Parts: sequence; C-alpha cells; structure tokens
Amino acid sequence: MHCPFCSADDTKVIDSRLVADGDSVRRRRECQACGERFTTFETAELVMPRVVKRDGTREPFDEDKLRRGLTRALEKRPVSIEQIESAINRIMHSLRSTGERELPSLTIGEEVMKELRRIDGVAYVRFASVYRDFQDVSEFEQAIRSLTDQPQNGSETP
Ligand SMILES: [Zn+2]
Repeated sequence: MHCPFCSADDTKVIDSRLVADGDSVRRRRECQACGERFTTFETAELVMPRVVKRDGTREPFDEDKLRRGLTRALEKRPVSIEQIESAINRIMHSLRSTGERELPSLTIGEEVMKELRRIDGVAYVRFASVYRDFQDVSEFEQAIRSLTDQPQNGSETP
C-alpha cells in the first residue's frame, strides 16, 4: 500500500500481530522511500446486505428484529436459546455469502423459513402465518401441505 507521507509505492511490513482476540491484524509498516512508519489494521468485512422491501424501500438488516421474530415464532416450543442463536448465525452467514449488497426481504424470509422448518415444524407454520405476509392464500396452504405430506412415524395405519 502507498505511503501516507510521500505516496511511494514501496512500503514494507516490519511487524504483524493479531489484535482484538484475533479478529483483526495490526501491521507496522515502513516506507522504503522516506523511512516513515505507520500502522494499518486489517479486519474481515462482515457487512450484511441491505433489505429491499416489497414496496422498493431499503432498510439496514436488523439482527434484533430477526431474533425477535424467531423467538416469537418459537414461543413455548421445545427449542433452546442456543438453537435459536445458531439458526441466526446460519441465516446471516447464508445471506452474507450471496455476496449481494442488497437482498429482497422475500429471500431473507425464505432463509428464515428454511431454518424454522429444520428446527420446529409447528413454529414454521406459525411464522409463515404471522410474518410472511402471503399475497395469496394458496401459497400458505402449500406450505402447510408440504409439512403434512412429510412421512411421520406411527401415523401409518396397518
Ligand atoms: Zn514515504
């Protein structure tokens, strides 16, 4: 990287160490042209994509909102806080790994549905009815049908 003092191209890393519990790297650099020393910090960019709502407006991704929604959907269900937290982590990881800077709220909803379905079928249906804001009732019916179509132990008649 360029020297901030003389703009020379040739700067040399003279020290490199992990800081903030290994979340970032601090580097001491020395300019080979003017001899000035300076420090750089390197951290991974973990920015969440912005959310594009149905009406076209944008809003920042809100992790707390996601947590509240999941917690509400999983109310009185046999699901631990740890399960909810790892679901949130998986959802956020999956949204980040799209590499997109903006994502439709529908995509986020689908990720949430995927996780919910994995954790708890009852909550999945509850979440669908409360949060997904189905435009078409048949969409919701489909969701329920795909759940009840799943083979269940002990439900078969001899
Ligand atoms: Zn320099």
